[in-house]
Amino acid sequence: NIEYDKSGGLEICLGEEDYNNRVNFINETRKASRTGTYDCDMLQVNELQKMLPKIKLGKEVCGGSYCPHDGYVNPLNLVKALHKGFQLNGGIFKYGQFVDKIEFSSQIFSIYTEDFYFNSEKLVIASGLITKKLSEMVGLNVPVGPERGQILITERTKRILPLPAGRIRQNFDGSFLIGGSNEDVGYNLDTTVEVMQQMADRAIKIFPILKDLRLIRSWAALRVLSPDLHPVYIESEKCPGAFAVTSHSGVSLASLHSSYLGEWILQGHHKDKLEVFHPSRFDVP
Ligand SMILES: Cc1cc2nc3c(=O)[nH]c(=O)nc-3n(C[C@H](O)[C@H](O)[C@H](O)COP(=O)(O)OP(=O)(O)OC[C@H]3O[C@@H](n4cnc5c(N)ncnc54)[C@H](O)[C@@H]3O)c2cc1C
Repeated sequence: NIEYDKSGGLEICLGEEDYNNRVNFINETRKASRTGTYDCDMLQVNELQKMLPKIKLGKEVCGGSYCPHDGYVNPLNLVKALHKGFQLNGGIFKYGQFVDKIEFSSQIFSIYTEDFYFNSEKLVIASGLITKKLSEMVGLNVPVGPERGQILITERTKRILPLPAGRIRQNFDGSFLIGGSNEDVGYNLDTTVEVMQQMADRAIKIFPILKDLRLIRSWAALRVLSPDLHPVYIESEKCPGAFAVTSHSGVSLASLHSSYLGEWILQGHHKDKLEVFHPSRFDVP
C-alpha cells in the first residue's frame, strides 16, 4: 500500500500578496500549457472552510486555490514499490556502488565503480545532484544545483486535514508534515531554528490548532533544481544511448517517469513531446 490518495490539493494564502502571487502562478501555468488550460481555481475563505470541516482556518487566511489533480502519496512506500517493480521486471540492484568513470567505445558503455565494472548499450544517468558530473562523462551539460528545504513533523493526532494544503499535509499516520523552506545555501544540510520558527509560525496562522501539537522531528534535504526548476530529459549526441534524467518532484512525476520516459528511452517514443525538456533551452545569450 503506497498510501496514495488523489484527494485534490489546496494552496492556502495568507494576505493579499500571497493571493495575487497564486493568481499569477495559475495564469502563467495556463499560458504555458499546450491547451491553454490549467485545472486549478481560486476559492474564497468560506469555500475553503467548507472543504475542511474538521480544522478551522486562521483569521489571516484570505483565500486559496484548489486543484483536483493533486493528492498525497507516502514517498517511502512509493520508492519501495518502484524498487519491487523494477526487480520483478528483471532489474538488479547493486547497492552502495558509486560510479566514478564512464567510457564509451564501439557503441558500448563501460561503467566503473570501486568494486565492479558494467557494460551496456544504454545508460541512464539519474543520480540527483551528481547527474551534472556523470553526464559530463558522456558529453552532456546538465545544469542542476542544490536548494535546501527544511521539514518539520508533528506528533500524531486524529485525521482532520482531508487533503494536502500546500506546505502543510497530514500523513496517513496522523502526523503533520510542515515545510519546506527554499534556501540557497549550497550543499549545507543544517537545520536552523530561525527557518523552523518561520515555518511553524506560518502553519499556525493557517491552522491555529497546530500550536497544540508537539514537534517530534525536523530535517533538511537538498532539492535537485535546474535553472528554470523544470525537468531535464536528454539523450547524448556524442554518446548515443546515454540519457540523463533529472527533475524536482520525482514523487509527483513518478508515474510519468516509470511509463512515458521508459518508452522514450527504450523505444524512442514521445521524442517530440519531450523536446521542451532539452537543456538547450538554457543556452540563451
Ligand atoms: C525539502 C524537499 C521537499 C520535497 N518535496 C517534494 C514533493 O512534495 N513532491 C515531489 O514530487 N518531490 C519533492 N521533493 C523532491 C524529491 O524528493 C526529488 O525529486 C527526488 O529526491 C529527486 O530524486 P532523484 O532520484 O533525481 O535524486 P536523489 O533522490 O538525490 O537520488 C539520487 C541517487 O543517485 C545516487 N548517486 C549519486 N551519485 C552516484 C554515483 N556517482 N554513482 C551511483 N549512484 C549515485 C544517490 O545515492 C541517490 O540514491 C522534495 C525534496 C526536498 C529536498
